[in-house]
Amino acid sequence: ARKFFVGGNFKMNGTVSSIKEIVNNLNNASLDPEVEVVVSPPSIYLHLVRDNLTKNIEVAAQNVFYKGNGAYTGEISVEQLKDSNINWAILGHSERRTILQESDETVSLKTKYATENGVGVIWCCGESLEEREAGKTIEVVSKQLESLKSHISDWSKIVIAYEPIWAIGTGKVATTEQAQEVHKAIRDWLKNVSDKVAEETRILYGGSVNEKNCGELGKQPDIDGFLVGGASLKPAFVDIINCKK
Ligand code: 13P
Repeated sequence: ARKFFVGGNFKMNGTVSSIKEIVNNLNNASLDPEVEVVVSPPSIYLHLVRDNLTKNIEVAAQNVFYKGNGAYTGEISVEQLKDSNINWAILGHSERRTILQESDETVSLKTKYATENGVGVIWCCGESLEEREAGKTIEVVSKQLESLKSHISDWSKIVIAYEPIWAIGTGKVATTEQAQEVHKAIRDWLKNVSDKVAEETRILYGGSVNEKNCGELGKQPDIDGFLVGGASLKPAFVDIINCKK
């Protein structure tokens, strides 16, 4: 069975003191041991979080470069993450695809470099409102997956996050039916890789997840967890982690 997975994406938010408070809150909470939890602070706070977490919680960077150490000003490397005991990265988030103009190809190269060098990747995909309204959701997500498939062969270190862009930070969560439909389509698509990859890959939902809507979403057969933005900065993140209890 796929282990339920809850990621907290802090995005470009937080201060030393607010992030210490989030970590203390997690350290003091009673968390469902059946759930894998990964938190992702801005890179400047990765060490702070890693050093202060006392629970079995992993830490993810929000980006990592597709080459080894060298003359790449402003980037951080997979080697540096591993040296810092940071074993995950979020890649292909829609904010990076749109605002930072990362192409499918760039995201795939980063994912390849990270997974081949021992860093797990929360790989994000999802459609815009315009694409959904044009009935192109599955087509858009399939194209993103297609690029990934053409670059990688080992899917064991990949967790997929389906994040419809219109649901991110808007308070407009996808309905359980809308989310389950796309998750099922992604799982069906993964059969192009192999039945094993389709069966074993976790597919997370992201976009306005909160402590109230997580329960129903988490019951859907193809929703294996969440990638939480805004609510991961709040005490309610614990309730989302514990939504299956
Ligand atoms: P919100 O939960 O704030 O909508 O953000 C979702 C997201 O983008 C997580 O990566």
